[in-house]
Amino acid sequence: MDTEITVIGAGVIGLAIAEKVSEEHSNVFLIEKHLSFGQETSSRNSEVIHAGIYYTKDSLKARLCVEGKRLLYDYCKKYDVPYNNCGKLIVATSEEEIVIIEGIRQTAIKNGVDDLVVLEREEIAEMEPNIFALKALLSPSTGIIDSHSLMKRYETNTINNGGQVVYGSEVTGIKRIENGYEVTLLDAYKNNYRFSSEIVINSAGLTSDKVSEMVGINDDNLKILFCKGEYFRVNPPKNRLLKRLIYPVPHYNLEGIGIHVTIDMGGGVKLGPDVKYLETNVYDYKLTASKQEAFYKSVKKFLPFLEYEDISPEMAGIRSKIQKPGEPPRDFYIMEEGKRGYPGFINLIGMESPGLTSSIAIAKYVKNLINISTRKQL
Ligand SMILES: Cc1cc2nc3c(=O)[nH]c(=O)nc-3n(C[C@H](O)[C@H](O)[C@H](O)COP(=O)(O)OP(=O)(O)OC[C@H]3O[C@@H](n4cnc5c(N)ncnc54)[C@H](O)[C@@H]3O)c2cc1C
Repeated sequence: MDTEITVIGAGVIGLAIAEKVSEEHSNVFLIEKHLSFGQETSSRNSEVIHAGIYYTKDSLKARLCVEGKRLLYDYCKKYDVPYNNCGKLIVATSEEEIVIIEGIRQTAIKNGVDDLVVLEREEIAEMEPNIFALKALLSPSTGIIDSHSLMKRYETNTINNGGQVVYGSEVTGIKRIENGYEVTLLDAYKNNYRFSSEIVINSAGLTSDKVSEMVGINDDNLKILFCKGEYFRVNPPKNRLLKRLIYPVPHYNLEGIGIHVTIDMGGGVKLGPDVKYLETNVYDYKLTASKQEAFYKSVKKFLPFLEYEDISPEMAGIRSKIQKPGEPPRDFYIMEEGKRGYPGFINLIGMESPGLTSSIAIAKYVKNLINISTRKQL
């Protein structure tokens, strides 16, 4: 075999996996079609370190988010990755929303998030004097992170561990061979290369279903649907009026948690993302200026200081959803595909939020799948 482990995709998850597996395995390739890391979803998101409040009990999303958050804060301290454990407020602006708040607290407790604090009006006014809320839940463990610096650190550690990071190379074919897989690459000069790898990890984000099909796994249940989320920014100087993330109480529409307000490490404030399934899987990052009214109206009730002209279109990202519109949320799909006849082939599909928060916990989980898979083959 040319290599022991191949990771496909240098987004935040593929990078975290490459770093983790290269700690123990000497022969690790990380293959990325773009010329550098994080060119897709991993650089088009809210950069929030989520607490793990809303996810279904015992789901991978709930477990890996809560574990991942802790590991990520430790990692940031250890490697000087910029972060801010600023906290977040979930705000109720009506009597009906006050009732929902207690339900959110109970779901969070079931997920191991037992630090949420109920705040009354006066306490809210002390913390965030510029917002309107009748009651709020404070999540002290929520934070924000500089995801570019995080990915750079994962990449550096992978290389320092002896792993090889190969950019400008797209995986175009994967064939099962004895004791592993033959992987075909197309490089930036349109040359094809082939190499063999014992283990292949598919962390290809928005096209991970296509990479899975390359090896022969064609499962309707794992088809990715592109789901766009757009952001508006709050123009200076009003971006300075908030210190924490502010989320509305979610009115359960199963697809998103409502237009919320996030701050970033550079002091910017953005509203969003909204939720829109695209009709076809195209990389459509275009911004829709005509959404300004809808964004403005949805946050005005808790950001009374905001005027229509205080916001402008910022950016868009695309979620890799495996649930169809209107269906209940699906969990991360992380599977060693031995049962389908592909031992040592590990799929990560539908890695939407909280994928950034969970990245180190996901990497640990995948490393464990490798150990189980390798033991079975002995
Ligand atoms: C709008 C939005 C907001 C979000 N906010 C948050 C948040 O606040 N907190 C949070 O925890 N999570 C958040 N997320 C989720 C988070 O961004 C994702 O879970 C994470 O970025 C997924 O990382 P990834 O490595 O799986 O995917 P990607 O970043 O998409 O990386 C996949 C990589 O694979 C490469 N690739 C694909 N096919 C091939 C191939 N054939 N050959 C070689 N390379 C290939 C791609 O080029 C890409 O670089 C958000 C997501 C969105 C869309």
